[in-house]
Amino acid sequence: MSEKLITVTSPLLPNLDEFNEMLKEIWASKWITNMGQFHNQLEKALAEYLHVPYVCLFTNGTLPLMTALQALRITGEVITTPYSFVATTHSIWWNGCKPVFVDIDPATGNMDPERIEAAITPATTCIMPVHCYGKPCNTKRIQEIADKYGLKVIYDAAHAFGLEVPAKEYGLPAYDEKGMAGIMNAGDMSTLSFHATKVYNTIEGGALVVHDEKIKKRIDNLKNFGITDEVTVVAPGINGKMDEMRSAYGLLNLKQVDAAIKARNEVAKKYRAALRNVPGVSFWDDMPGVRHNYSYFPIFINADEFGMSRDDLYFKMKEAGVLSRRYFYPLISNFPTYRGLPTANKENLPLGNKMADEVLCLPMHHNLSEEDIKRVLNFFKI
Ligand SMILES: *Cc1c(COP(=O)(O)O)cnc(C)c1O
Repeated sequence: MSEKLITVTSPLLPNLDEFNEMLKEIWASKWITNMGQFHNQLEKALAEYLHVPYVCLFTNGTLPLMTALQALRITGEVITTPYSFVATTHSIWWNGCKPVFVDIDPATGNMDPERIEAAITPATTCIMPVHCYGKPCNTKRIQEIADKYGLKVIYDAAHAFGLEVPAKEYGLPAYDEKGMAGIMNAGDMSTLSFHATKVYNTIEGGALVVHDEKIKKRIDNLKNFGITDEVTVVAPGINGKMDEMRSAYGLLNLKQVDAAIKARNEVAKKYRAALRNVPGVSFWDDMPGVRHNYSYFPIFINADEFGMSRDDLYFKMKEAGVLSRRYFYPLISNFPTYRGLPTANKENLPLGNKMADEVLCLPMHHNLSEEDIKRVLNFFKI
């Protein structure tokens, strides 16, 4: 292949010299994991950046999902969305609970709040929505339903790093006089992933956002085997700890994440301008008043109007060295592991299935050049 490969994502990497300086500090201290100084600094810095009370760091984005369910003692049925990354449903399964799928709202890709009540049974204890592609769920409506039925709400906010919304509209506490709120204040807890493919990364990593100190202590305890002191284990915890090297890396990346989000926004603007009138291609615009993070740029292909199927387009781009991603395809409910569930059938989830069949996430990251963007858009010339 003559031209360079354009990847769908590209990791935000800290300055290597600065990282080296921090590594020297770690070497000097000989404290490499177990809640060291960089770990603790990063928790505080993230809480400030996200406008939330407490952040509990984890070693990846799946353990916080599993730990949240444990900490809230969730049992029975958990209402969730099939249109997500498999980790969402896996975490429910690993806790011995039953995933109950409800269909999405095609206007956002998120679980449709108006379909939740019909899925509630006496065994339901929790709702686990996802802010898909970093588009905010209707947190106000979901909380109303949760309160009405006495359910917990755990948000998988893996895509929603830095997402801010108008506080009143979303039923969240404002952090400034303009009335903005960090989305991570919603529900009982929210989880984050800092995997290399995400807007903000610590190589592997994640976090659980909680709203009070007592719960923070419980999570800190659960992520360290349930150990409270040398001779006391109070709960069947797990090892979810983030080490010092990745905490240092995370502190450096936090300084440049706003610039990366800005660069992504510029890419999104160019994509939108070029794709606006292409028949058979649709996409979402920014939502009014929302600070988006441009974590993904999903487009939806109507094969009849576009003159090519989504899959044909995907493979044609791939052959030319432009990697897009069919994210989320297949729908979680169609994987053999889950398709036997009573709510997994296609008749129950027509909108999620349709979106999974039409979606294509275009390359989206802070390193895309004008030339790269042109090469992507060449596949859409009218
Ligand atoms: C990335 C992701 C996760 C899992 O995060 P890891 O850090 O890879 O464990 C969970 N949920 C969603 C929606 C994700 O995109």
